[in-house]
Amino acid sequence: MDYYSSQISRLIEQFSRLPGIGPKSAQRLAFHLISMPADQVHELAQTIVEARDHIRYCRECCTLTDQEVCPICANPARDHRTIMVVETPRDLAAYEKTGKYEGVYHVLHGAISPMLGVGPGDIRLKELMERLRGDVDEVIIATNSSLEGETTAMYISKLIKPAGIRVSRIASGVPVGGDLEYIDEVTLLRALEGRTEI
Ligand code: ZN
Repeated sequence: MDYYSSQISRLIEQFSRLPGIGPKSAQRLAFHLISMPADQVHELAQTIVEARDHIRYCRECCTLTDQEVCPICANPARDHRTIMVVETPRDLAAYEKTGKYEGVYHVLHGAISPMLGVGPGDIRLKELMERLRGDVDEVIIATNSSLEGETTAMYISKLIKPAGIRVSRIASGVPVGGDLEYIDEVTLLRALEGRTEI
């Protein structure tokens, strides 16, 4: 039975497709939205559509940005010879929050997972290899310490080593299976400072 009007049901259904939103949260969000002033709802809807239409991958590091080159890659004060490889733009944000890392990034948008059928060709590895043709001193691999993250780190290290570029891995102070974005800044910094060559 459909208790609500079909439009409310549609709204609830749309919300429940989002990650981490169960049926109850979807219902709460839908009713909240309906009770909001119309102009606020229009602004929210417009912001969502505009973000989806304009946000793209940075030409250099593949993070999400609304410009051709993201602000970090465009910044001449950053050390462009040190590249930190992370899995997601959220991981990049976590390291940026520490305010202590001066290099640039490369965002893979995933990690190699034979179990889930994600191979090297499914993440932004080709783009990383292209960047390494330029002047690069060090590649810091900061993928998660999950099985997928470790597999990816090993794969990248094997790929880069022959090029004579220093490859390091962040220290394992990061809990196993822990998503980088949930780790506090002190732990992140310690992991970065304690990185070891691999
Ligand atoms: Zn960039």
